[in-house]
Amino acid sequence: MFLDTNHTMTVRKDLLAVLSSQPRSVSWLARELGFRRGDVDEDLRHALRSARAAGHTVTVIPARCRSCGFTFDEQKLSKPGKCPACRGTRLYEPQIFIAPHAGA
Ligand SMILES: [Zn+2]
Repeated sequence: MFLDTNHTMTVRKDLLAVLSSQPRSVSWLARELGFRRGDVDEDLRHALRSARAAGHTVTVIPARCRSCGFTFDEQKLSKPGKCPACRGTRLYEPQIFIAPHAGA
């Protein structure tokens, strides 16, 4: 799957570029970069791992419930269906941000 590999690498490079300009949600990334919904979570995980390994600071602002303020695990990158605390469905999506060459 030579072509697929090249495509993935291009996407990851783009990902770094867009995420270092401002925080983005997974669904925004999926839409803008043409990920299929099922793939974006896994691809993003790999990309964030590579970014960290390359010395970038990756910040994940976890998903949060609008109703009760429950904060989800930041490992969860896609938008949760509902809040486990209050069963509410009004949720903020997780946002991902990459700060290149951050000294901290
Ligand atoms: Zn809640």
